[in-house]
Amino acid sequence: MTADAHIMTGLSRIGMLLRAEGWRQAEATGLTPTQMQILAHLVARGPARVGAIATEIAVTHPTASDAVAALVRKGYVEKLRDPDDARAVQLHPTDAGQRLASEVAVWPDALLGAVDVLDDRERAAFLKGLTKMIGALQTRGAIPVQRMCVSCAHFRPHVHSDAATPHHCAFVDAAFGDASLRLDCGDHVEADASARLESWTRFLKEPAHM
Ligand code: SF4
Repeated sequence: MTADAHIMTGLSRIGMLLRAEGWRQAEATGLTPTQMQILAHLVARGPARVGAIATEIAVTHPTASDAVAALVRKGYVEKLRDPDDARAVQLHPTDAGQRLASEVAVWPDALLGAVDVLDDRERAAFLKGLTKMIGALQTRGAIPVQRMCVSCAHFRPHVHSDAATPHHCAFVDAAFGDASLRLDCGDHVEADASARLESWTRFLKEPAHM
């Protein structure tokens, strides 16, 4: 088996755990994994239109619409007029939806425990590897643009000579290292396509002094 195949096998093992946890939560809450994902997304990021949600969680529009209809029927989500467009509606979590989302653990304990066994150096290397893989999926259009450093207008990869903190975030105006790369940042501002490509290319290319 090649190293690539080992990595795929490892990822599928972790995926298996996340899927099992999704179905366990579904049993406990009466929501399907897609419904739970939509509710969690609305609670974490605020009101959104169904099309935006479908893009964010990478499902088709009809799948998202069906899941939203079920959430509305169950009283966890309500549709309110979009303040920016009187003809459109936004989805909002209801109080019951907020409560349910806060009761459900975001990550399985087993996975949190497994991450705990990594030391700081391993965490930084793992996070950098994940960032590269997710960035590559994003660049190939396999997943939507994520709120991660490599797609952010504030990201300046490999601009500092200190190998421990080579990157810079222009939003907080601070240097940071691989261990602080963000995969879902609330301050993310999507860079335009050419800036994303430039940043991505620079991120992949380790400067000689690093
Ligand atoms: S704002 Fe967030 S995503 Fe953007 S560079 Fe800074 S830490 Fe990364």
